[in-house]
Amino acid sequence: MITLKAEWEIEKMRRAGALTAQARDYVAALVRPGVTTRELDDAARRFIEERGGTPSFLGYEGFPASICASVNSVVVHGIPDGQVLRDGDIVSLDLGVIVDGYHGDTATTVAVGEVPPDMRALLAATRQALLAGVAQAVPGNHLSDISHAVEEVGERAGFSIVVDFVGHGIGREMHEDPQVPNYGPPGRGIQLRRGMVLAIEPMINMGGPDVRIRDDGWTVETIDGRPSAHFEHTVAVGAPPDVLTAP
Ligand code: MG
Repeated sequence: MITLKAEWEIEKMRRAGALTAQARDYVAALVRPGVTTRELDDAARRFIEERGGTPSFLGYEGFPASICASVNSVVVHGIPDGQVLRDGDIVSLDLGVIVDGYHGDTATTVAVGEVPPDMRALLAATRQALLAGVAQAVPGNHLSDISHAVEEVGERAGFSIVVDFVGHGIGREMHEDPQVPNYGPPGRGIQLRRGMVLAIEPMINMGGPDVRIRDDGWTVETIDGRPSAHFEHTVAVGAPPDVLTAP
């Protein structure tokens, strides 16, 4: 069931989204060769808690950290650990914050030092796919207009869309209805209206679309071992779309 948010709830989500975005940009700026993903996680948790937020990933279904840090062939849900980031890696940083009972959720993928042109293209296409999806989050459109826009950008760039994981509604819970796939024909699904808040999150692979979950139960990686990127915004449907996790 999709719950419509009142304007006062969207204002609360704007505050949650703002802190989520600040934490994302703070952690992204710490990425450099030599840093470990655990150091990024510690920094994120401190940043969020010092500002009165709660890191929503920490303890979520047993997840042991405040951010997901997904390096190279890891698509999403990478667990921060002692892995040292090296020049030429990419790392996806995904994090959620609760402020006053409402959630924000956002992700970005960052180059560590200098990365090859094909990896730069993957990051650019995935960011562009997110923005194309966000642009469809207007009243009167259908849910799959978002999905289709994401898919079109990713495939035009010659990359593969991950279909096993999707975006989601968000509000008092991190994951609410509806699911927001990153693929499919336009004009399908529910009609969008003001009061709907969606986490739109393309995951795009340089190689094939297939992924698997490691034995840790969390880490999602590409089967072919090639890199993957992930970008995410929390967006209130509106004209224009209301990006609650904008920089
Ligand atoms: Mg999400």
